[in-house]
Amino acid sequence: MKSVPLNRGVTDGSLADVVDGGYCVGCGACAAVTDAPVAMRFDRFAKYRPDHVAAARATVSEQVCPFLDGPDEDALAAQAYSSLGGGHDARLGWYQGLYAGHAIERGHRNEGSSGGLTSWLLAELLNRKMVTGVIHVRPIVESGKPRFAYTVSTSTDMVTANAKTRYYPVEMSQVMAQVRATPGRYVFVGVPCYVKAVRRLMRADPILKERIVYAVSLFCGHMKSGRFAESLAWQMGSQPDDWKTVDFRRKLADRPASSYGFAVQPHGGGAEVVMPMGQLEGYDWGMGVFRLSACDYCDDVVGETADASFGDAWLPAYVNDSAGTSLVIVRHPELQQLFVEARHEGRISLDDSNVDDMVKSQDASFRHRRIGLAYRLWLKDKRGQWRPTKRVQAEASHVVAVYRLIFRYRMFMSWSSHLVFGVARNMKMLWVYTVYVRVLARLNKSLVRLSRSPRFSRRA
Ligand SMILES: Cc1cc2nc3c(=O)[nH]c(=O)nc-3n(C[C@H](O)[C@H](O)[C@H](O)COP(=O)(O)OP(=O)(O)OC[C@H]3O[C@@H](n4cnc5c(N)ncnc54)[C@H](O)[C@@H]3O)c2cc1C
Ligand code: SF4
Ligand code: SF4
Repeated sequence: MKSVPLNRGVTDGSLADVVDGGYCVGCGACAAVTDAPVAMRFDRFAKYRPDHVAAARATVSEQVCPFLDGPDEDALAAQAYSSLGGGHDARLGWYQGLYAGHAIERGHRNEGSSGGLTSWLLAELLNRKMVTGVIHVRPIVESGKPRFAYTVSTSTDMVTANAKTRYYPVEMSQVMAQVRATPGRYVFVGVPCYVKAVRRLMRADPILKERIVYAVSLFCGHMKSGRFAESLAWQMGSQPDDWKTVDFRRKLADRPASSYGFAVQPHGGGAEVVMPMGQLEGYDWGMGVFRLSACDYCDDVVGETADASFGDAWLPAYVNDSAGTSLVIVRHPELQQLFVEARHEGRISLDDSNVDDMVKSQDASFRHRRIGLAYRLWLKDKRGQWRPTKRVQAEASHVVAVYRLIFRYRMFMSWSSHLVFGVARNMKMLWVYTVYVRVLARLNKSLVRLSRSPRFSRRA
């Protein structure tokens, strides 16, 4: 396999390069440092971006950005976990335990997206007074604002109320100010790039280092802009942002766990509307509508720098159980002890899992973030554009032409979805968006079919 060297000449980037190049995920870490020169804004594409980035040149804000040079996932994880023994895999990182299971106690499974083990662990940490606060995501009921935000939960009831996956942008600068102002021991929950950013923040800020005692990650396929929620709610009869709450992961009885529903609670006491996600345009995760462009330049699928990571066990042994099953990677010995004890006491159900099953469950993401990423980096280098340094080498020769076309087409789908939905929204014409998605989906299917024909099936 011919390798293309990293274009080191243009990797020494700035926050402005990150934002202008479309690599900013909107995490808010750059705005979370003390006396940050930047501030986060929810932009017209319903995603966060920092303002005044030029003023952040050579400041701590640049040291903490997960898309700029500094200790990468391997370095951060090695520092925390390599001396502990346990296993290591290049895709999953370090681990003490690999499991599939669900919560039995406290109704966490019912209230959660999968097996509810994330909320179970958070509640367990609170109950045992190992933490005083959980930094995770809560819904916001008012229209015209970002509809989800980071918050601090201090009771198991709050943890339960703020369960569920939120495919919606959130930023951490406000909640980090709260943590700095309020002494305590906290556990942080985020997608992998957010956990990486928090690890870097902790290196730069002694108060955060002392107070954030654990970090938990969700596996991550990609992040959506806020337009994803709007597009689904609109298809179900609510105006794009005129709804009270949405649930992206409503469990539907008698269906596989992967065939979940989307629920909208309208304003003004109207009845909740629920539909299977598969009946709504844009549901196909592989098409990547409303995907943030930063996610095309990400190489951490499971949150390798987190003390524990959680995903969906959509594997043959578990997917038919509509109640949901979590995948768990445990890295911190104290958390490993909690899982072992609770399993022994029958408070959670836990099967031992293995690297192959974990990786298989995230097959599409690893394809996108290894084979696809190498090609996208190669494209950037070919054009001489700045791009972040990744753990994946830029390369093009490992994919045949039809796959290159698919990777390019997927970038186009994400990019154009933000624009087309904006037009449809301004014109108040939902059909503009739905017709566009149907056409894209047809083309996508044709390309995938073509790639599977024996003539084109050679892959890396
Ligand atoms: C954008 C995104 C993409 C994902 N992609 C994948 C994937 O490709 N494959 C996969 O296996 N799993 C993925 N997940 C994780 C998955 O959807 C479940 O969240 C995970 O399996 C945990 O389920 P649970 O029942 O244990 O969690 P629950 O008990 O429901 O608890 C979830 C916890 O996560 C917090 N939370 C929810 N959304 C966010 C957010 N955006 N940022 C920070 N914290 C949040 C909640 O506040 C809650 O504390 C993704 C999650 C997100 C947010
Ligand atoms: S990715 Fe995060 S830290 Fe980097 S510029 Fe964007 S908001 Fe700031
Ligand atoms: S795909 Fe990567 S960059 Fe995008 S939100 Fe998930 S962890 Fe962050």
